[in-house]
Amino acid sequence: MNSYIKAQYHYQDISKFSFLITGGAGFIGSNLATYLLYHGAKKVRVLDNLATGNLSNIEPLKANPNFELLEGDICDLETCNKAMEGIDYVSHQAALGSVPRSIKDPITTNKVNIDGFLNVLEAAKNAKVKRMIYASSSSIYGDSKILPKVEENIGKPLSPYAITKAVNELYADTFSKHYAFHTIGLRYFNVFGPLQDPNGAYAAVIPLFFTAALNNKPATLNGKGDQTRDFTFIGNVIQANVKAMLVENLTQHEACNIAFGERINLQELWVKINDMLGKSIDPVFGPPRAGDVQDSLADISKAKRVFGYQPEYDLNEGLKESVDFYRV
Ligand code: NAD
Repeated sequence: MNSYIKAQYHYQDISKFSFLITGGAGFIGSNLATYLLYHGAKKVRVLDNLATGNLSNIEPLKANPNFELLEGDICDLETCNKAMEGIDYVSHQAALGSVPRSIKDPITTNKVNIDGFLNVLEAAKNAKVKRMIYASSSSIYGDSKILPKVEENIGKPLSPYAITKAVNELYADTFSKHYAFHTIGLRYFNVFGPLQDPNGAYAAVIPLFFTAALNNKPATLNGKGDQTRDFTFIGNVIQANVKAMLVENLTQHEACNIAFGERINLQELWVKINDMLGKSIDPVFGPPRAGDVQDSLADISKAKRVFGYQPEYDLNEGLKESVDFYRV
């Protein structure tokens, strides 16, 4: 078992609690499900329609009697209501990720990420769960040039995907005001780690770089490759999810940056991964990507203040924990 799963980020006894993870067959959700079951949760229910998730991510969990898979779509309100039965805490991860996917097909991204989000929010509120937290995104900062990114200064969204995450936050804020249903949005900054899919048109940069370098192929850098990112290891994201779900005495909706708080540009990242693997492959350069944010770096003091977030894995440690997953 990976060290970031064995590490304990909570102090409460979770054997009394049942958790629902939407999108639990995906990268972030399946890691969170693994953590909760490893630490003795009473029940972990995954709601996923396998649109982008992978059954192999949750295969090892099926032997655990406290694990439950509900195959279904968040776009169906009845399915969301059913998923909430007997649940104490909800981590909503289900969405269609990727900026390019949303530019190619804004209708489907809107349907899943906004209508689906509203269904989960409404169902969780009606079921009176103790807390719901949800995946927002650093893409919400859009065209804002301010660095580091501080929660209250967001710019104009640069893609349909960014719009959907901004709308999620608006709905969550409204539910807090009208129904006193207080949730927490986690604005993830480029998450990476084991179980992140390296395949497909919308794969993320670290899985792409690992698989390219391991196959002795060059990575393609979009534009100049000088875009900077605050890469966030999955262990830190699990910590944020667990602490945000279990936090007590929340009096309003909060949206918090979840990152490590350092940045690196993509050329430097490619060199770092080459060094790790003992290679020195030159990258190739492709056209700039539409909707791409140039620079990203998070101020993480709000998450520290609201629920005690304290990231433990920096980029180097995270890459070391991840490389074996891509070696196959
Ligand atoms: P992922 O694609 O691996 O996981 C998403 C999961 O949601 C998949 O298992 C998919 O099958 C499921 N899903 C999609 N549509 C669904 C639907 N209609 N009904 C039920 N399930 C559905 O992505 P991930 O990287 O694990 O991302 C999880 C969340 O975090 C998403 O909301 C994403 O937008 C957000 N996020 C991720 C990152 C990142 O760097 N990975 C950054 C910012 C935000």
